[in-house]
Amino acid sequence: MDQIGISSYPEERLAGLMQELGQPAFRARQLFRWLHEKQVCAFCEMTDLPKALLAVLEERFTIETLAVQRRQQSRDGTVKYLLRLPDGNCIETVWMRYSYGNTVCVSTQVGCRMGCRFCASTQGGRVRSLTAGEIAGEVYAAVCDMGERVSHIVLMGIGEPLDNFDNVMDFLSIISSPHGANIGMRNISLSTCGLVPMIEKLAERHLGLTLSVSLHAPTNEMRSAMMPVNDAYPVEQLMRACRAYQQTTGRRVSFEYSMVNGVNDSPETARRLAQLIRGMGAHVNLIPINPVDGSPYSASDAANIRRFQAMLTQLGVNATVRRRLGADISAACGQLRREGAGLPADSIDG
Ligand code: SAH
Repeated sequence: MDQIGISSYPEERLAGLMQELGQPAFRARQLFRWLHEKQVCAFCEMTDLPKALLAVLEERFTIETLAVQRRQQSRDGTVKYLLRLPDGNCIETVWMRYSYGNTVCVSTQVGCRMGCRFCASTQGGRVRSLTAGEIAGEVYAAVCDMGERVSHIVLMGIGEPLDNFDNVMDFLSIISSPHGANIGMRNISLSTCGLVPMIEKLAERHLGLTLSVSLHAPTNEMRSAMMPVNDAYPVEQLMRACRAYQQTTGRRVSFEYSMVNGVNDSPETARRLAQLIRGMGAHVNLIPINPVDGSPYSASDAANIRRFQAMLTQLGVNATVRRRLGADISAACGQLRREGAGLPADSIDG
C-alpha cells in the first residue's frame, strides 16, 4: 500500500482519522502539534502517543520532510535553498530578512505550466503540484536550518498557487493554525498570474491573506505577449475579478509589475496602468525584470523605473520599487532548480 503524507492533513482531517482509528478526539491535536508545532520528522519522536497508534500510523503514513540539497547565503542575510522532495524532485525556497520579521518564500509546484515568457520556472513545464505537507515542509526546513522564527510567508516561489488550489488551501489552514506554526493570514501573501475563476473561488474563502496579482502590463496586447494566461483571462476580466475580490473580502489587492526595457516601461504605459487601477487603493510593486536564459527581455534601467514610479504616484497610484535582496547569490527564481548547480549571482527577485 502506498503511504500517505500525514503532514498534509489539516487538523479537522486528522480528527476524522482519529475517529476512524477509534482514538479519543484529543489525539488529533496532539498529533497535529507534533507535526506542525514541534515539527518532528519521525513518528517515534511523538512520545505521548500510544505505541499501538504509532505503529498503525507508521504503517499507513509518512511525514513529508524535505532535505537541503544546496544552500546559498547572501551578505544581506537572504538564504536560498534548493530542497529535495521525498520523490527526488527539487524546488526552491528563500529565506528573507525584513525589518518586520523573517519571511519564507515557498514554491507550490515542481515547475509551472503558465508559460510566462520572462520566467525561468516555467521553461520545463509543470512536473507536478506539491502537497500541503511538502509546502509546509519548505517552511520547516528553512526554520530548522536557520534556528529562528518565521513571521511571514509569501507564496511566490516556483509554480502557480491557484493551479494547485486544494493543496494550497490545506497548506494555509495548516500553517496558520495556532496549534502549529501559527503564522496569521495577515502575514501571508499569495501571488497569482491571474487565473480568474480561482481568484473568484479564493474570494469566497474570506481568508484575510494578501492577494498579489502579477499584472506586468495594462493592455491585452502587451500582457498577452508576456503572459499566455492573458489569452484565457484578459485584462478586463482580471480587473473585474480583482475589484470583486476587494469587495467580497475587504482586503486590498496588490499588483506586481516586472519592468522590461522597451516593452512595458514607457510614460504612456504608466498612464494606462494608472487609469486601469486608479481608485482601488491598490499598491503596485515595481520589480526590474531578471533576465533569464532563452528570454528576449532585459531590465529597465533604474532611472526609468524611478520615472515610471513617479508618474504613477502623480496619477494617484501608490507604487514602490521592490528592494533587491540576495543580490550576490543565485539567479532568478527557477534557475537554481533548472541548472541544478546555481549560476553566478544576479538577484533573487522573481
Ligand atoms: N505564479 C505566481 C507566483 C510565482 S512568480 C505568479 O505568477 O504570480 C512570483 C513573481 O515573480 C510573479 O510576479 C512573476 O511574474 C515574477 N517573475 C517571474 N520571473 C521573473 C523574472 N525573471 N523577473 C522578474 N519577475 C519575475
